[in-house]
Amino acid sequence: MNEIYLDNNATTRVAPEVLDEMLPVLRDHYGNPSSMHSFGGGVGALLKKARERTAEALSCRPDEIVFTSCGTEGDNTAILSALRANPDKKHMVTTRVEHPAVLSLAKHLETRGVEVTYLGVDDAGRLDLDELRRSLRKDTAVVSVMYANNETGVVFPVPEIADMVRRRGILFHTDAVQAVGKIPISLADLPADFLVLSGHKLHAPKGVGALYVRRGTLFRPFLIGGHQERGRRAGTENTPGIVALGKAMELAAMGIVDENTRVRALRDRLEAGLLSSIPDSVRNGDPDNRLPNTTSIAFKYVEGEAILLLLDTFGICASSGSACTSGSLEPSHVLRAMGVPFTYAHGSIRFSLSRYTTDADVDAVLREMPGIIARLREMSPFSAATGDAGGKPACTR
Ligand code: PLP
Repeated sequence: MNEIYLDNNATTRVAPEVLDEMLPVLRDHYGNPSSMHSFGGGVGALLKKARERTAEALSCRPDEIVFTSCGTEGDNTAILSALRANPDKKHMVTTRVEHPAVLSLAKHLETRGVEVTYLGVDDAGRLDLDELRRSLRKDTAVVSVMYANNETGVVFPVPEIADMVRRRGILFHTDAVQAVGKIPISLADLPADFLVLSGHKLHAPKGVGALYVRRGTLFRPFLIGGHQERGRRAGTENTPGIVALGKAMELAAMGIVDENTRVRALRDRLEAGLLSSIPDSVRNGDPDNRLPNTTSIAFKYVEGEAILLLLDTFGICASSGSACTSGSLEPSHVLRAMGVPFTYAHGSIRFSLSRYTTDADVDAVLREMPGIIARLREMSPFSAATGDAGGKPACTR
């Protein structure tokens, strides 16, 4: 059975064009780009091209791109760099809905004397920019706000936030792991100091990412060792991965507008079909400012994990909005921050599409989901037959 892959915010398939450029690097061009011989030097030229492609896709300079191993490394590097470059400033601002790559680091930093302000969101997952403005202090070293949320797809007004933060002389970092490759981002119009992306979210392989560091921003490396990446990230470069990322960035930049239209139409058909055919189902998140590929839908009275298991029997891959912590299923921190009632949050499913998603994939979900939910509700101790165990949905738009 071919999988129906609607979990592209978790990771993506490597694009065939990307694989075609990457395989010869793995097979033939295995030299070390730091070597003096021309065999290694040839690989250096491939890195240069990948850096140029990445920079062009983001409208920045090639020397502002630092290749990393993943999004988590980029986020950690940016935030730690900002704090180390400003040793007298001990305050950081972020949001309650960040990925653990930022949130867990912030919690860790609190144990090391950094004071962190966590900004909340409303029931549609939106930030309050006045609250953000009020949170900025003289001793704020860095503000870290994600570009787009991985669970709901909600897009924050990051260019506006970056402008507000930098005008106060505070460093601004954005985790754009879910946004790059899905919506156009131009660093020419976005005054961020740091921006992070990850290859495996945009049809490049796992194990490669990039950190943008604005020219002139004081930088302190995270990995200390050799002089790779102009002394900003030590460690022999993942040359096949970097070449692949360069190609993936080029493909994304070329196709983003057409793909957005096509993927959005598929996503909207999927979402509208599910909401209209399944009673007591609601969308999580702001419908007006969202990634075109993502929908998060809450199905009342059912467990997300159970839905995923039944979807899996039909070859359908998706994600739930719960995480298994200490043996019990807890709704995700994102849905909790939005105030989604437990009876809905437990049954939240994220479908995330890609350029490879087809009409037939959407048809399959629309065909199978009503039966899956009806079956699970029959077994649910909280189903309509036994009374309502929770409140009203947080967001019905
Ligand atoms: N930030 C966001 C918003 C993400 O969705 C993810 C991955 O899911 C990461 C950071 C971490 O990226 P990586 O898996 O490349 O470390």
